[in-house]
Amino acid sequence: MAILVCGGAGYIGSHTVARLIEKGKDVIVFDNLQKGHKEAVPEGVALYVGDLRDPEALDKVFGENDIEAIIDFAADSLVGESVGEPLKYYHNNVYGTMCLLEKMKAYDVKFIVFSSTAATYGEPERIPIVETDRTMPTNPYGETKLSVEKMLKWSDQAYGMKYTALRYFNAAGAHADGHIGEDHAPESHLIPIILQVALGQREKISIFGSDYPTKDGTCVRDYIHVTDLADAHILALERLQKGGDSAVFNLGNGTGFSVKEVIEVTRTVTGHPIPVEEAPRRAGDPATLIASSDKAMKELNWKPAYNGLEQIIASAWKWHESHPNGYAK
Ligand code: UDP
Repeated sequence: MAILVCGGAGYIGSHTVARLIEKGKDVIVFDNLQKGHKEAVPEGVALYVGDLRDPEALDKVFGENDIEAIIDFAADSLVGESVGEPLKYYHNNVYGTMCLLEKMKAYDVKFIVFSSTAATYGEPERIPIVETDRTMPTNPYGETKLSVEKMLKWSDQAYGMKYTALRYFNAAGAHADGHIGEDHAPESHLIPIILQVALGQREKISIFGSDYPTKDGTCVRDYIHVTDLADAHILALERLQKGGDSAVFNLGNGTGFSVKEVIEVTRTVTGHPIPVEEAPRRAGDPATLIASSDKAMKELNWKPAYNGLEQIIASAWKWHESHPNGYAK
């Protein structure tokens, strides 16, 4: 029996595959490699290159393997892009996941752990955010993830498919041994961009907005280590397989850091001065996003191991220093 990891060649997916293998699980990866990297899939793990919207590709992987459960990361995930190209997001994220659920139904696979996001909340009603708070996404990315959460709810009710939706806050860091890490082209996330400045690949970091109602005027986010996220997926799957009910969990550290604080910690970790410039706000950025992860800690028995920003950035720095061009040779 194998766990099928869709999007397993991507950033969070590959770190989850690594943890599953470290725990001795049988894993298969399905990825269209549009954003994922085949180098991020461990040797010995079968990689099926295909798209969720291609029924033949899915029939091949479901037909050739005895699949016990799905962990699904396969999606487009850039907020800004989703505002400009909403239909691309509906097609890949909503229709793609619908195709996957149809195959789960056809092949009688009952468990799925699904990548969701803090973007399902939109502008938060209060901080820290709890799972029962209002969900009112402010961009198509968050909306498509929320649509899938609803599709999962109704599929559970009709077909008994048990799901866990994990709403990530800001994933960051890299595997402790530095062999896999974050590699997006183009890069848009704060920590890898600052590290590209430290590597001399960019001159400076632009701070998007310095007039937010926060401690220093810059946006505050809850950074969570990618390996801690990976472990939460495994705990979530084990809970479902032991008979746990379908559920939604936030995953964050519960502590917020401003953009300026992240830059300051990165200066300490890398020893580089990291020049900055103040730039206008980026569309769609809420001022503050901080998770309450009490529910995941209680019900999944999840305990983030990397609870300091310095540790998180140091692990990312190890990857970026040893792979300045990411997975490209
Ligand atoms: N950010 C920034 N400069 C950059 C990239 C990001 O000031 O070059 C800010 C961004 O506006 C947000 C925070 O850093 O407030 C985290 O952004 P990221 O894209 O990493 O994650 P998001 O919070 O959008 O998921």
